[in-house]
Amino acid sequence: MSNGTGGPTSDGAVGGVLWVVATPIGNMDDMSPRALAVLGSVDLVAAEDTRRTGLLLTRQGIRARMVSLHEHNEEARVPRLVRALSEGRTVALVSDAGTPLISDPGFRLVAAAAEAGVVVRPIPGPSAVTAALSVAGLPTDRFVFEGFLPARAGARRASLERVRFEPRTLVWLESAHRIVASLADAAEVLGSERRAVLARELTKRYETVLRGSLEELSRRVASDPEQQKGEFVLIVEGGTEPPPMGRPVDDVLDALLAELPVKQAVRLAAVVTGEKKNTLYRRALQRRQDWASE
Ligand code: SAM
Repeated sequence: MSNGTGGPTSDGAVGGVLWVVATPIGNMDDMSPRALAVLGSVDLVAAEDTRRTGLLLTRQGIRARMVSLHEHNEEARVPRLVRALSEGRTVALVSDAGTPLISDPGFRLVAAAAEAGVVVRPIPGPSAVTAALSVAGLPTDRFVFEGFLPARAGARRASLERVRFEPRTLVWLESAHRIVASLADAAEVLGSERRAVLARELTKRYETVLRGSLEELSRRVASDPEQQKGEFVLIVEGGTEPPPMGRPVDDVLDALLAELPVKQAVRLAAVVTGEKKNTLYRRALQRRQDWASE
């Protein structure tokens, strides 16, 4: 194992240590002493936004050498960072807020470092996902994290359709721009009566946790501009309806769409799968779009 600060290891691992460090999602007091110690001692901090992390470090009295690592440069930066790690340097990976890799950059770096035999160690801490789940009051023994819902309405509804029969608790991240539309679509596709929790601005001044049916949350947020501001996690209870019998809906739809015009394909798919026609119609248009962009 690594000795924690880099240098020689006794299990065949090479070089330094890549620390994956969680940072606060709002409240700076959530920065752990261990995170501070690592950020203050590594050779290099790989940050999603060096300006933002710079401010965080300065506030804590830490001076660190930084390099930017975000979704647009990660692929290009990884070889250099892995080389530095293999040569014995220590690197801390941080994102703008919360836990790196959870809908944040870092996956390529972690994968490449592990592949190169470098020790990768977590400094666990805040994440919007676990913070929201911890106060939701919905079953959390099993859950499905779906990241962000797609921005375009068609793709968003199709994405919701795919999890309509998922029995585990569902978790999405959402931004202020789309929260109203996403709640309305979730109510329509998943069912207006499903229990849901909307966690907003967790650990910050305007922290709000709304609980109710999807319909209630959708109405509440649509009618209150204050509830549309900030950062959100949407949690929805899993489905209780059994999935429709027969072949997977997409298989049936794809086979029919390959031979028939959309309307006819949808009519037959509804008979075969027992799915609603308007659901299938949206799905069919999405499938066509997906094929066109492949
Ligand atoms: N890696 C981060 C984490 O572990 O929390 C998530 C990064 S993701 C790019 C950012 C999204 O997380 C926001 O758009 C929002 O959906 C959610 N989020 C971040 N901070 C939040 C907070 N304080 N309250 C609620 N949601 C938050």
